[in-house]
Amino acid sequence: MNKSIKPKSLILKALFLLFLIITGSVFTVSAQNEPALRVEPPFWWAGMKHSKLQLLVYGKNISGTSVDFSYQGIALRETTSVSNPDYLFLTLEMAPDVKPGSFDIRFIRNRKTEFTYRYELRARREGSASRQGFTASDVIYLLMPDRFANGDPSNDNMPGMLEQANRSNPSGRHGGDIAGIKNHLGYLSDLGITALWINPLLENNNPAYSYHGYAITDFYRIDPRFGTNQDYLDLVEQAHSKGIKVIKDMIFNHCGINHWFIRNLPMENWIHQHPEFTRSNFRAECISDPYASEADRTKMLTGWFDNHMPDFDQRNPLITEYLIQNSIWWIEYAGLDGIRLDTQPYPYKEMIAEWGIRVAGEYPDFTIVGEAWLNKEGMLSYYQKDSPLSRGYNSHLPSVTDFPLYGAMQQAFTEKEGWSEGMARLYYVLAQDFLFSDPYRNLIFLDNHDLNRYYNTIRKDKEALKRALAFMLTTRGIPQIYYGTELLMDGEEHKGHGEIRRDFPGGWAGDPVNAFTREGRTPEQNEVFDYMQKILQWRKNSKAVANGRLTHFIPENGIYVYFRTADEESVMVIVNNSKEERMLETERFREALAGYQQAHEVITSKTIDVNGRIKVGAESAMILELKK
Ligand code: CA
Repeated sequence: MNKSIKPKSLILKALFLLFLIITGSVFTVSAQNEPALRVEPPFWWAGMKHSKLQLLVYGKNISGTSVDFSYQGIALRETTSVSNPDYLFLTLEMAPDVKPGSFDIRFIRNRKTEFTYRYELRARREGSASRQGFTASDVIYLLMPDRFANGDPSNDNMPGMLEQANRSNPSGRHGGDIAGIKNHLGYLSDLGITALWINPLLENNNPAYSYHGYAITDFYRIDPRFGTNQDYLDLVEQAHSKGIKVIKDMIFNHCGINHWFIRNLPMENWIHQHPEFTRSNFRAECISDPYASEADRTKMLTGWFDNHMPDFDQRNPLITEYLIQNSIWWIEYAGLDGIRLDTQPYPYKEMIAEWGIRVAGEYPDFTIVGEAWLNKEGMLSYYQKDSPLSRGYNSHLPSVTDFPLYGAMQQAFTEKEGWSEGMARLYYVLAQDFLFSDPYRNLIFLDNHDLNRYYNTIRKDKEALKRALAFMLTTRGIPQIYYGTELLMDGEEHKGHGEIRRDFPGGWAGDPVNAFTREGRTPEQNEVFDYMQKILQWRKNSKAVANGRLTHFIPENGIYVYFRTADEESVMVIVNNSKEERMLETERFREALAGYQQAHEVITSKTIDVNGRIKVGAESAMILELKK
């Protein structure tokens, strides 16, 4: 603790430390490798749209030094001291025509230079600003890097990292890494996915549960057990060369308790502090609730996610700017195609809006999907850019996680058909899309790393899984598939997260089977893999699914029929959820079928006549590319 902190905050800090000790989360990281001076962002780029740059400077007693540098086109606009004298915040302003190069920033006291940092202004990549984010033309594959493949066993345990690998512990680190992902880009490309969402890869130097990555201890460094920053850059480049986009998982709500700036806080309001440990109420609903009490809203926003996850106070412009710049740094540095933002409703919504504007200002076609875990359409809509419902608030995030459709898909494919059950669930959810500004950009999914494995949800009914996939891959929205779905992986969330985050078989040397190969998969796994592959590979070139409008017909007799129609292309999808084979009369679909005679069925590659009646197998789906 330093002396410049006010007595009240000292008491709070003492309580805070006490809490850390009581909860057993007190840090034991040694300071041996701490650099004398940290500057973040560590470098920047010439030619960014936003002219200002905030540098967080961290060095022993650096406050009170004077700052000196000279570089054509860069001016020092502001120097901000905070209560902790080990920090200094600089605001630089860059001219639009500033040239790439580097310069020494000197920190001087009594005419002596105490610290020097060589700051680099790099040249931007060509086309950097015009990158195309992920869209409905993509299918995203979500994987947990610790659980996918161990491409480099030599990094399983790394010096200075608190948690060691232990594959027998479902909540421990298993050794998966960036090299493992790189090794299997061919598998992913062959399956037909076009984007990867990888759970967080940044350093999580925590004594336990470090594998999932959501308690970051360094915002500028890939965890060495996953690889280096350069390994990540190489992964993005190799993925791009195979037609696969990369989406980074980012967290603005909290970080890990072992983060160096948490161990020595810049100021009291860097994070939310409470006299005793206070958890969020996790009721995201109260942010948009017109009747919400201040007490509930405050607890939601200021409570911590967990006792090892200190909660940022994004009303503080210094931490807000830090996080915004960090995201832009990674987009530019690694050549990212998208961001998945963790826990969208938990940071102050004003910060999210500012962030959305800033990212779009640099990259107009970039995509951010916010994890807004809300089960009702109206409440979810609130978090999407240009929402018609948010009464003056605009998040500026183009995409949101579609939990209402997820909820419908949990039941639709396995229950008995009824007025409101079965296929009608899908219909009723989609019929509410007028509540969204752009439902075609909603992220749609059967499961993810926080949810029951879908195969388990549908009671291991392989045919139901195939129908659900056919639906999800052809309805509106941006589909996301969780790794292992193609292998019929199962697991229940209530038995522990390890159950739903099992290792991909074959990702580790010596695994009894290698499911990355056809020979290593069971006949059932190959059947589902092939089914997905057929749709995914076809989908890559389907303008109707990527951009076409959706027209659907009220489900009848357990059959749901809809069309995706773009300029010159139309696709008809028939989902028969009933246990009987049916002869489907097409007269009812005349408005969408007019002018078409035949269709190419994507899964079986058969040509069928679409006039009159179509034979639809029991419990199956047909995807029909219509032909004149
Ligand atoms: Ca490894």
